[in-house]
Amino acid sequence: MMVEEKKQTWRESRIKPEQMAKYLQDGRDFIDDDALEARLRQGEPEATRVRASIAKARAIQSLDLDEAAALLAVQDPELWAEMRAAAAEIKHKVYDNRIVTFAPLYMSNVCVNSCVYCGLRQENDAVARRTLTADEVRAEVEILAGKIGHKRLIVVYGEHPRSDLDYMLETIRAVYDVKVPARRGYGQIRRVNVNAAPLPTEELRELQAVGVGTYQVFQETYHKATYRAVHPAGTFKGDYDWRLYTMHRALEAGIDDVGIGALFGLYDWRFEVLGLVAHALELERALGIGPHTVSFPRLEPAENTPFNESLRWRVSNDDFEKVVVVLRLAIPYAGMIVTCRENPGMRRRLLPLGCTQTDASSNIGVGGYQDAEQHGDRQQFLLADTRTLDEVVRDLAAMGCITSFCTAGYRCGRTGQCIMDLLRSGAEGKFCKLNAILTFREWLDDFASAETRAAGEPVLQKEIEEVRQKMPKAFPEFMQSYERICAGERDLYF
Ligand code: SF4
Repeated sequence: MMVEEKKQTWRESRIKPEQMAKYLQDGRDFIDDDALEARLRQGEPEATRVRASIAKARAIQSLDLDEAAALLAVQDPELWAEMRAAAAEIKHKVYDNRIVTFAPLYMSNVCVNSCVYCGLRQENDAVARRTLTADEVRAEVEILAGKIGHKRLIVVYGEHPRSDLDYMLETIRAVYDVKVPARRGYGQIRRVNVNAAPLPTEELRELQAVGVGTYQVFQETYHKATYRAVHPAGTFKGDYDWRLYTMHRALEAGIDDVGIGALFGLYDWRFEVLGLVAHALELERALGIGPHTVSFPRLEPAENTPFNESLRWRVSNDDFEKVVVVLRLAIPYAGMIVTCRENPGMRRRLLPLGCTQTDASSNIGVGGYQDAEQHGDRQQFLLADTRTLDEVVRDLAAMGCITSFCTAGYRCGRTGQCIMDLLRSGAEGKFCKLNAILTFREWLDDFASAETRAAGEPVLQKEIEEVRQKMPKAFPEFMQSYERICAGERDLYF
């Protein structure tokens, strides 16, 4: 097919109104801007009401929009302190002291959209465009999995015919292909999460079949007037509802783990928190499955992008902490992702309050991992945290956290409704704890520096002792697996 012909076919295959219309209620989507704004105008809530919501969250039940709005309206510092303590407690109850790490892999930076806050918008000539070939993808993964030791990636695609579904499938297969010898075992990516444009249901089915973990699409802003202002009409991304119902289609297509998110700084952070809560509640209502992860990146400066230089709605560090606390209370079962956009100090502050996943050794340039090796790290001024995975793991160990490289969940069918039920009941923690120990053992033996290994061993021993005491029945079988890992076997999981 000629390039122009392919482009035309691709355009026509994008937005399918019937695939979102069926989810509308009385012809309307689930974000009612006026109703959300009205909730945010309500005064400070009674302490008893706030404490009732905290108790509900502690029972790992989602909060409704009125309850979430009330938490956002709290002014009393003592009540905020109670909310922070509860958020930390819930994080610990559901996810214990585990932190999952991953790296982003930008496959391409071509895009047909014109989002005013994005350096990759199509009319920005300041950016050199590139789309990795499958061989180039493999070369990037050899570094990520073979040298750094990552087991999970989030692969990122712009919306463009050059990075269409066929390209996604080819490059995801290329990621899974790579297996590199490591110090004792081998390096391999075991879970590929995807951040891409909203896809139609039939394409999502194909994506599911290739074996993806979480499919992420962020709404950017839930506020419709702002959405229209920053995503020009006539672009694909200008269609608010097509984007809003992506996760409905993904779940319908069999992708059980979906990730929602908002870009903080485009509009009032309180509104965006309510938008995320509304989205989670709607997914639970319509499909019985809430989001696997919630993301809340803060808008950062981008090359040749003046919009980002004078943001009316920039979010302060203190308010950003409140974003994390309220999301943890309102959607208590969900994984929460804090990225290298935040500096090390901010990440240390946010992780105990509810975050469960973080990236490390990240490079957001296309081909950036090889470039960084060959020419020095060109990305260091773009990301606020450029520490290596080894450094982040050591820092987490110093905080008493175990880095989990577990990717068993989706390979064992613990996804979607199943994982939600397990998380709510606390039962998932049992599998996760065992797998965190096994995968951390692997990683320390295969990739850790001597310093990080020394920091990680006491954490590991403490975890093993907890298993012995709290799971005496599972302990003998678990220790057999642990000994096999110590002897050099890899990828054992419960
Ligand atoms: S769709 Fe994504 S990559 Fe494209 S311009 Fe918008 S934010 Fe940037």
